[in-house]
Amino acid sequence: MYRLSWMILWIGLGNQVLLAQDMMRVRETIFDLTSEKMHGRGYLKQGDKIAAIYLQQEFEKIGLKPLQAGFMQFFKMDINTFPDELSLKIDNRRLRLGKDYILNPVSRAGRGKAKIVFLDTLIFGNKVRQQEFMKTKIEKNVLVFSTRDFVKMIELPSLVLDKIYAAKALIELKDQRLTAGLSNRQLSNPIFEMPRSLFDSLRQNRKKPHKPFRASFRVDAEMIKSYLSQNVVGYIEGKIKPDSFVVVSAHYDHLGRMGKKIYFPGANDNASGVAMLLELARYYIQPQNQPKYSLVFMAFGGEEAGLIGSKHYVDFPLFPLEQIKFLFNLDLVGTGDDGATVVNGAVFKPEFELLLRINEESKYFPIITKRGFAANSDHFYFTENRVRSFFLYTLGGIRAYHDIYDRPETLPLTKFKELFGLLRDFIDQVQGQTN
Ligand SMILES: [Zn+2]
Repeated sequence: MYRLSWMILWIGLGNQVLLAQDMMRVRETIFDLTSEKMHGRGYLKQGDKIAAIYLQQEFEKIGLKPLQAGFMQFFKMDINTFPDELSLKIDNRRLRLGKDYILNPVSRAGRGKAKIVFLDTLIFGNKVRQQEFMKTKIEKNVLVFSTRDFVKMIELPSLVLDKIYAAKALIELKDQRLTAGLSNRQLSNPIFEMPRSLFDSLRQNRKKPHKPFRASFRVDAEMIKSYLSQNVVGYIEGKIKPDSFVVVSAHYDHLGRMGKKIYFPGANDNASGVAMLLELARYYIQPQNQPKYSLVFMAFGGEEAGLIGSKHYVDFPLFPLEQIKFLFNLDLVGTGDDGATVVNGAVFKPEFELLLRINEESKYFPIITKRGFAANSDHFYFTENRVRSFFLYTLGGIRAYHDIYDRPETLPLTKFKELFGLLRDFIDQVQGQTN
């Protein structure tokens, strides 16, 4: 009886996913990565490096081994940044950066005060209107246009498009929420983005409507050429087939700072994925859990700047890519009320069936849906280079994305424990499936 009850307890523990104290550690990891001292894990104030050093130290503490001389793999990239003053006033009302407006990632520096004019949408397809627009003194104005005009703008004759970009500044009105991004280039003027609803209410509630509608602004932008950033890579040696590899990847970088005052914490994107990667490393480092294949943990940099870190890894792999039996990329895994989606689920069918079977047996997620191939995270260049891979993200819960509201205290982590169980079972079983 005694033994039997221990057996039952043992089986119970085996199925147990993450315990309450593990979830506290997960929260701590996410708070660390999103704290102001990491500056949004971007390219101002060395945010990316501080985050990478933190991860290197975590890898060391866990006991992962480096694949080369150290855990870091360096690469260079060009990046546009907004290190200093940013301001936008419309009709003398000072707007709040991050809440009322953001900078478009390709924005250039500039300052001034100018009359606001609207893009004449009849220039799309009407040559006469285009000629009239060419005669305007747009260089002296702030030009307002809609996101939906943008698609048509890029089809305009290049002279007309150049004229648009000659405006003193541009304001793009968004029907959707503001989402920031990064770019490796600058266009020719400051470009602001703001919600159409806010702009319309400013316009309609003007105290002195007879006076010209004006904007004043200041943008400090700096293109950094060949910025040195890094991936952080460590592994656990396989017990049976150490030359076969399963990879867990998650990008640790985020959008960094914008101006002097704000930064993007990136709790869901992607402190959540990094926290999961670390939990899996902590689990598999325990001798009783040593994997059959070697298990590699790749924390990529430069993802938000255009998958730069993972592209660099694929170009300069630390062991032959053919030896990767499967790669599981995690990005945006802090929710889960509405299930999860697997990019490449429709491409790698046996592995997706395995994942569904595991999910069915243990009831981790109410639903897991599949998608085809997509260039939306770090699995992309691996898949292109014939590495079998999935990219999983969770659904539901919060809507914060690429904005200042993607914060740790509002990240629900609804299905984090279940996702851990799903990944652990999948990693265990995928090693039996391939040779
Ligand atoms: Zn992102």
